[in-house]
Amino acid sequence: MSNAVWTIMKILNWTKQYFAEKGVEDPRSDAEVLLCAVLKCERLTLYVDFERPLTEEELALMRKYVQRRAQHEPINYILGEKAFMRNVFKVTPATLVPRPETELLVESLVKAAPFFQPEGAVKILDIGTGSGAIIVSLLDYLPQAKGVGVDISVDALVVAKENAEKIGVKERCGFLRSDVFSRVPPEKKFDIIVSNPPYIPAADIATLAQDVQQEPHGALDGGADGLDFYRRICAEAAEHLADDGLLAFEIGINQSEDVCALCLEHGFKQAVVRKDYAGIDRMVFALKEKEGEDKYADLLLEVTKEL
Ligand code: SAM
Ligand code: GLN
Repeated sequence: MSNAVWTIMKILNWTKQYFAEKGVEDPRSDAEVLLCAVLKCERLTLYVDFERPLTEEELALMRKYVQRRAQHEPINYILGEKAFMRNVFKVTPATLVPRPETELLVESLVKAAPFFQPEGAVKILDIGTGSGAIIVSLLDYLPQAKGVGVDISVDALVVAKENAEKIGVKERCGFLRSDVFSRVPPEKKFDIIVSNPPYIPAADIATLAQDVQQEPHGALDGGADGLDFYRRICAEAAEHLADDGLLAFEIGINQSEDVCALCLEHGFKQAVVRKDYAGIDRMVFALKEKEGEDKYADLLLEVTKEL
């Protein structure tokens, strides 16, 4: 970028071209989103004011953003935020950027909660909470519910707490640094345990998109076959659940059979799978009902129903 006059249109065209050369996946959209962040404006404004020159400060900030994105830093780390469900979550390089598939998991659980308690007054535990996207959204949609988010990363927990405060659920949400269940008191029983754990097989991480590789590996790495966290969580979840409790997982590609089998091995009576928008098995829900009971057959139908 030279020091000639840079109008909105000129900088957009230049950036788009530069991103395309650098292999950025969505060059035009990313150029627009970053320029909007610099100018603090809506995307439409870019087209209305396309001849407006940028100030020096604006240009300097845009240069920084463009350099970062050209190195495949996830755009949401540059923006510092990501929209999820009906809120905008703070994200930092300590947190995974919440994914659209995970919204489906949250929607399913919002529908499940009233099966357990009137008005959805459930107790929920979120393992590997990251930015808090799952637990904070659930508490936002279920105003009578209470929750706890655990993570091994202190830096992620700081962000999750900020999100809980900003979104107005702080009073109903505790956060705990814990290695899976290690510091979760066993006498506390939850109606729902949810987790989107790290599930990428370790050897596959190097093959992921460059952007994803810049997310914390501790949020992605699920061990040799990607199933380490499902093994650990399934082994202990029943102990932390109420008698009829629900265990809900996001899962990776080709993991549904193994994860269902793990649930059934560890005291869960039924396990069902729900697909994502791409038709890939993406969630597993397992119920801890007693043998012979079938109280929640409707619940399982409801949570697995595609929209
Ligand atoms: N729940 C968030 C979401 O859906 O966007 C983040 C999910 S991310 C895939 C997995 C999270 O698990 C990361 O925040 C990571 O720090 C956390 N984690 C990794 N190992 C853990 C462990 N041993 N105990 C608890 N949390 C762990
Ligand atoms: N969904 C993430 C991805 O796109 C993986 C997150 C996880 O391991 N849970 O790769």
